[in-house]
Amino acid sequence: MELGLAKTRLKYMTEANCIFCKIVSGDIASDKIAETANTLALRDIAPLSKVHLLVIPKKHYKNVVELSEASPAVLGELMSQATSLAQEHTNGSFRLQFNTGSEAGQTIFHAHAHVLSDSSKDGS
Ligand code: AMP
Ligand code: ZN
Repeated sequence: MELGLAKTRLKYMTEANCIFCKIVSGDIASDKIAETANTLALRDIAPLSKVHLLVIPKKHYKNVVELSEASPAVLGELMSQATSLAQEHTNGSFRLQFNTGSEAGQTIFHAHAHVLSDSSKDGS
């Protein structure tokens, strides 16, 4: 098989099997909380802290490096949404995290920011 075609098929397969792409398309249900033109925010299915949100680009990029290189404007939009939601859902103390690579704990290879906080807006 011609190499370009093989790569295209591999990329397609990766995206076709991607949980976050399926959430964006509506094939898998999720607890969505907000969206912008190019990003979607949802609650993490297995929260690691009191507030645990995910913000993802609607288009598939395997990690934040690929997103940053391919589309800095979408990364900006994603950061903007993540910080707005962090202000909305916490008392202002939070962590933003992009796990990048399996050794760093990345398990879903579709770029996403974690918004994590042990404080919630109401102080609980
Ligand atoms: P990471 O380990 O950085 O790749 O983060 C992937 C995150 O996605 C984990 O915190 C998972 O709990 C979360 N997750 C996996 N499946 C779903 C889902 N269907 N809906 C919401 N969050 C999910
Ligand atoms: Zn994807």
